[in-house]
Amino acid sequence: MSAITQAEEANLQLDTQGFAIVVDGLRKRYGNLVAVDGISFRVKEREIFGLLGPNGAGKTTTVEILEGLRQADAGRAVVAGIDVFKAPQKVKSRIGVQLQASAFFDYLTLVELIEMFAALYERPIDARVLLTRVGLEDKASSRVKTLSGGQKQRFSIATALVNEPRVLFLDEPTTGLDPQARRNLWELAQAIRQDGRTIVLTTHYMDEAETLCDRVAVMDRGKIIAMDTPATLVGNLLAKGFRRRQVEREANLEDVFLDLTGHELREG
Ligand code: ATP
Repeated sequence: MSAITQAEEANLQLDTQGFAIVVDGLRKRYGNLVAVDGISFRVKEREIFGLLGPNGAGKTTTVEILEGLRQADAGRAVVAGIDVFKAPQKVKSRIGVQLQASAFFDYLTLVELIEMFAALYERPIDARVLLTRVGLEDKASSRVKTLSGGQKQRFSIATALVNEPRVLFLDEPTTGLDPQARRNLWELAQAIRQDGRTIVLTTHYMDEAETLCDRVAVMDRGKIIAMDTPATLVGNLLAKGFRRRQVEREANLEDVFLDLTGHELREG
């Protein structure tokens, strides 16, 4: 990584005003493979920002660099006001990262796990208030392995909120969930944004990105090939003359599923 001059540093400070994330010329290679090829983008405060792209596009590598978990080869990144390259540990204290539920100890209850995370961050926290925030108040004394898929995802989000992060990273949060649990998780993400936090979301579900994200960046082969609001990207495609061969039906099988089984969450 090249040294940052004082002038560049001052510029970087200015550039970050109003932005939760500023990325400039980020680059990462694994041997001969360029995983992230000089990308630049900004995420506004309180935005839900989607990182989309096919498998291997470089999304995880990008996110892990922003989380301070992986070193970039070049570029600049400021997350929640902190230079990621200079102070990766400090970044970790200002962000929340949703872990996969399998990473939790089996023999602790939800309250005990939240208290353990709070102790790691040296933050006093009322675990039950946090569990209520994610709709798990009834499960406070349960263990993670007894939770449904949706409950596990909500719990992992609760653990990511322990340190009151300014930026929350959600990695494919609804993979494997039923339609009711997906919608429930979308509502939780929107509520978290209402609390004043910024969310960076990776997903392979375009309906999820369209419902949740204020803006999305589409990555392919390490580069950002499009970045805008979902509505503008769709509008641009239509302006190019794109039309679906078959006009969308007014309902689909997911609508049937929800009509038959209702919108209520199905979890014990
Ligand atoms: P997915 O949607 O499958 O999660 P992704 O967009 O998150 O994909 P990355 O996981 O960032 O993509 O991977 C980008 C490229 O870098 C891929 O070709 C991947 O094989 C490669 N890669 C990722 N991590 C490593 C590593 N530790 N060592 C070598 N190559 C890696």
